[in-house]
Amino acid sequence: MLAGVAHAASDDPVAVLSTWDFGKAANEAALATLRAGGTALDAVEAGAKVPEADPDNHSVGYGGYPDRDGHVTLDAIIMDQDGRIGAVAALEDVVHAISVARAVMEKTPHTMLVGEGATRFALDQGMPRVKLLTPAAEAAWREWLKTHRYRPIANIENQLPGPPGSALNHDTIGIMARAGDGRMAAACTTSGMAFKMRGRVGDSPLAGCGLFIEKGVGAAASTGVGEEVTRIAGTARVVASMRAGLSPQAACEEAVRHIAQLRGDAIAGLQVGFLALGASGDVGAFALLRGFTYAVTRQSGRTEVLPARSLFARSE
Ligand code: ASP
Repeated sequence: MLAGVAHAASDDPVAVLSTWDFGKAANEAALATLRAGGTALDAVEAGAKVPEADPDNHSVGYGGYPDRDGHVTLDAIIMDQDGRIGAVAALEDVVHAISVARAVMEKTPHTMLVGEGATRFALDQGMPRVKLLTPAAEAAWREWLKTHRYRPIANIENQLPGPPGSALNHDTIGIMARAGDGRMAAACTTSGMAFKMRGRVGDSPLAGCGLFIEKGVGAAASTGVGEEVTRIAGTARVVASMRAGLSPQAACEEAVRHIAQLRGDAIAGLQVGFLALGASGDVGAFALLRGFTYAVTRQSGRTEVLPARSLFARSE
């Protein structure tokens, strides 16, 4: 039942790895940062900022689809291999959630700020207040309001326009960088599930769910229906499997299979994808459904966007 292509090892080490096709532009910005002498942390921040600023990307940052009440709320996390973590959740009115997350990491004693406090902190740091809801995202929300009842139910993604789990409804950038000296950092940023309940926070800003990294082992990021990732502390699980000796590929497969086994029919039609970068530069990628793609950029500058293998051959 495996679909997609396997990833081959190469002499040209992986410098940057990220989720989805839009990861390509992010990877290029990250590699440019590394080449300019930036750290792995600088690189993942620079990469994550690319889709955050893109009004045509409706699942990350500016232009993201709003919650059911019409508010765009952002979740983000940044981590380095020394256990430094900064995150924000339900952040409003600031484009670069990843930079706010980094400021939380570097300038506060905390690991996460949420909601109004996160926005106030960002503004105090000199970041501009920006209306994140673009006309296109607002039009999509108003269209959604016409046909979708406003009430909290399970599996809300099944009510959304487009195939469940499709890029139309949600997608996150998870980006991992490995500098020439082997040091690694990772970042993850999203506007979360389109038309989510107000106050909903997904897996993305949670350490060990949307993102995790461990020195000498590697990093992992997730995308897809965050609730399913959070239930199993997905990226902590992938990294733990790698620590126990599984390859990044085998570790991603193990986590996806665990979700399928745990949740059975409850995950029918839902997408979850894991992406992992081992400390020696090996890549792993695996999803429940066909359609998850990822971008690999090597130190030479060569970038490929590849389809991940999946547990199920279908895409919905
Ligand atoms: N994992 C994200 C969330 O649940 C969405 C996605 O990656 O598609 O918020």
